[in-house]
Amino acid sequence: MTDIERMFSPKAVALIGATDKEGTVGEATLKNLLQGKGKHAVYPVNPSHTTVAGLKCYPNIASIPEHVDLAVIATPAKSVPQVVEECGVAGVDGVVIISAGFREIGPEGAKLEEEIKGIRAKYGIRLLGPNCVGFARPSIRLNATFLRDSPEPGTIAFISQSGALGSAILDWATVSHVGFSLFASMGSMLDLDFGDLIDFLGTDPNTRSIIVYVEGIGNAKKFMSAARGFARTKPIVVLKAGKYTTGAKAVQSHTGALAGDFEVYDAAFKRVGVLRVDEIGDLFNCASVLDSRRLPSGPKLAIVTNAGGPGVVASDKITDLGGELAKLSDSSMRALNERLPPYWSHGNPVDVLGDADVDRYEHAMTTLFGDPNVDGLLAMCTPQGVTPATDLASMVVRLSKDKHKPVLTVWMGEKGVADARRKFAENSIPSYATPEEAVKTYMYMYRYRRNLDLLYETPNEIPVDLMPPNSHLRLMVRKSIADGRLLLSQADADKFLDAYNIPRLGGGFARGEEEALMIARRVGYPVVLKIVSQDIVHKSDIGGVVINITNSEMLAHEYNKLMDRVKILRPEAKIDGVYVQKMAKDIDYELILGSKKDRDFGAVLLFGSGGIGVELFRDFAIGLPPLNQVLARRMMEETTIYKALSKGLRDRPPANLKALEEVIVRFSSMIADFPEILEMDVNPLSVGDGKVFAVDVRILLDPNPIDRSSPYPHMVILPYPTKYVVPWKLEDGTDVLLRPIRPEDEAMESEFINGLSEETSRYRFFNIVRNLPHSDLVRFCNIDYDREMAIVAEITEGGRRREIGVGRLIAEPDRRRGEFAVVIADQYQTKGLGRKLVDMLIDIAEERRFESIFGVVLRDNAPMLSLCREMGFSVKYEEDYARVELALRVSSSQSGVEAQPQSQLPPAPPQSQAQSPPQQEPRESAAGISQ
Ligand code: ADP
Ligand code: MG
Repeated sequence: MTDIERMFSPKAVALIGATDKEGTVGEATLKNLLQGKGKHAVYPVNPSHTTVAGLKCYPNIASIPEHVDLAVIATPAKSVPQVVEECGVAGVDGVVIISAGFREIGPEGAKLEEEIKGIRAKYGIRLLGPNCVGFARPSIRLNATFLRDSPEPGTIAFISQSGALGSAILDWATVSHVGFSLFASMGSMLDLDFGDLIDFLGTDPNTRSIIVYVEGIGNAKKFMSAARGFARTKPIVVLKAGKYTTGAKAVQSHTGALAGDFEVYDAAFKRVGVLRVDEIGDLFNCASVLDSRRLPSGPKLAIVTNAGGPGVVASDKITDLGGELAKLSDSSMRALNERLPPYWSHGNPVDVLGDADVDRYEHAMTTLFGDPNVDGLLAMCTPQGVTPATDLASMVVRLSKDKHKPVLTVWMGEKGVADARRKFAENSIPSYATPEEAVKTYMYMYRYRRNLDLLYETPNEIPVDLMPPNSHLRLMVRKSIADGRLLLSQADADKFLDAYNIPRLGGGFARGEEEALMIARRVGYPVVLKIVSQDIVHKSDIGGVVINITNSEMLAHEYNKLMDRVKILRPEAKIDGVYVQKMAKDIDYELILGSKKDRDFGAVLLFGSGGIGVELFRDFAIGLPPLNQVLARRMMEETTIYKALSKGLRDRPPANLKALEEVIVRFSSMIADFPEILEMDVNPLSVGDGKVFAVDVRILLDPNPIDRSSPYPHMVILPYPTKYVVPWKLEDGTDVLLRPIRPEDEAMESEFINGLSEETSRYRFFNIVRNLPHSDLVRFCNIDYDREMAIVAEITEGGRRREIGVGRLIAEPDRRRGEFAVVIADQYQTKGLGRKLVDMLIDIAEERRFESIFGVVLRDNAPMLSLCREMGFSVKYEEDYARVELALRVSSSQSGVEAQPQSQLPPAPPQSQAQSPPQQEPRESAAGISQ
């Protein structure tokens, strides 16, 4: 069990600040803790009482006779650091700080928080809060909150940033009999945040879905990797507050102005399979219907109804929400014509008329289930006279049993349809009071399904041999930042496009008229003149762009006019010169491609309708790097202009989408390679004559220092590290591919683990492991390449790929040491693979500047121990196992020789507390070695 697990399933709970005084938080919390009748023991702590609520009261945590897993702290803010310190000394696993009076009251409170943070880190104790309502786990009858009502048990976990809103929602849920596996209010998230809780809930058997109310996400990277791991098996539904509050920061680019917090959150959620909803009611609604086995594969809905009106309402709503009314196939139409009365609607919605009986409905629904143009069904019933509402419901339940297409139901009315609704509820068929609600839910189901498609898209790093020559750019960037020239000129920005093979128009920078004439002659008339100045961001706003200059006389004339104009309009601007560019003709579409660094999610990308009207039209999509072609296409599809790009618009031909896709992917690699880029616009990115090319490029550099301890400090999703992909041969000549593990390797990994002999399994896992659940396999396969690396050895046998070994390296929270583990399939042992994998892990550990690499080996695992000894590991025996460790930095005093080169590297910088608090996550994946 991890500390978090112990904290959330405690055997013993202490309440520090327990009291009998009515109306206090201490009293309310104690009542809740005692009322639950769960299996946990409760210890009140308060130095000024000897008994509280009839129980013995302890003066401090140290005097409690048993180990305390969870301490709930409800004492005044000032005393909290001392209390946490005492908890740390007593070895408490986790604390919940209910007390308020911290950051929210000002600098004094913030200082207290800092103090607590330090103490927490010293003892490695986990902490929820401060300034929170606490948490409750109705499924194990534990209520560590001061809420008035106890939530009912159920399968939904609810994590709320705001305690007040959380308890209001809980109130509503209690009335509606929605049950919970967990309710947690996060407070200021000094330690535990959304990512931690999702990680915990992902493996909690009582939780089927997770709903989240979030204001700000905390550690975005952690959230992304946790959500990505579990979104497929446990739907995560999020309500994000603050749709209309964007950081009112002065921005210099279109991308900066367009990509607000909300849009970025939306894109991030989508990328990791999380569904964002607009209303509180949707949170619960979606939590109960998002079953990944029954999601619509498309937006096309078919409606069956016995009354015209509600059908029309549903149709309108589906169009409003961007869905589609399914167009029925010819064979469906024939089948319906045959059996329905002549006055049926002859289309979708399928109106089976007011006198419809069970048979008629059944025939219509069976036809629609079989229609390939239909992705999902909405069955509606408006009881009229003899309508058998309950029998109809039974038929729907029976009919939908073995179907993959989802069915949603709307049985209109109250008393008359109560039995029908109960039937639907019992059989987990979504049922609504109005067509609008049903359609809205259908669209959410569809969106969730679409998000899930993206989960396994792990874009590659650019292969090393295709690496763009970019070192000179790195130097240029550094120099510009040092000189305080943060806005790169177009001529410098062009160099980036050229390095990454993004086509652009010919052109160049000219300091004066003569030079301008020369460049124009080189690129060929007609040309465009553009003013170049650090102080002018949007050139055409001040008449700084002159197009269609056809000859040298005209150029000379326009050049002088341009200079005069700019001097009058922007007298303070220091003018560097002009950019002379080839004039593009026959442009079909103007697009924008941009990037900016978001406060929470790091670098983001933007694609949309461009030109001078970008901010007016606001037609764009946000994505997160890295991108591959699929993800790039998805971004395009999300814009309105995509329709024109894919199909053409009036006399304009469609765009070359493949070329566009490629440009977007290259752009994304460029952004990944340059954390120094703060904002960048390519606007317009023009499309014409079957080509895509950049016309106007602007790069704004980040003056803040960049954390260089990882290659992608500005990204929350890491690319697939292709540099570790190595073809290799076993000693017997068998070809093996060594490569980092991928999320989609789950099935292969499972087969591999199940195929291990008992001995090998025990050597690796310390017991015999078979049929690991999905939640464990996700942990093995969907890894954060920054924190962990797993190299699988794969062979191809009869066209099928098989895993024959895997080596894993996990960084300790402080990143000074890495724990490794290796396991090889029995029939492939003693062929040199174990040595190769350990060697690769040593290499990776060195590259990450770890001080050492260590592992735990069972005492009787002689082959591994001898391999480690041979490779220079020290071996220390402890009870049943041995600890093997290899120092990666040789200190000269010890070895008596000159330090090896790697020891001259600066020590890895300590990780900043704010970004990545130490992790105490399950480490099972690194334990044990077998080869
Ligand atoms: P800014 O965005 O700073 O105003 P741009 O270089 O983007 O300056 O120019 C503004 C507009 O002028 C572009 O959106 C495009 O429509 C047009 N334009 C600029 N350069 C060219 C060119 N070389 N060929 C054709 N049209 C151009
Ligand atoms: Mg522009």
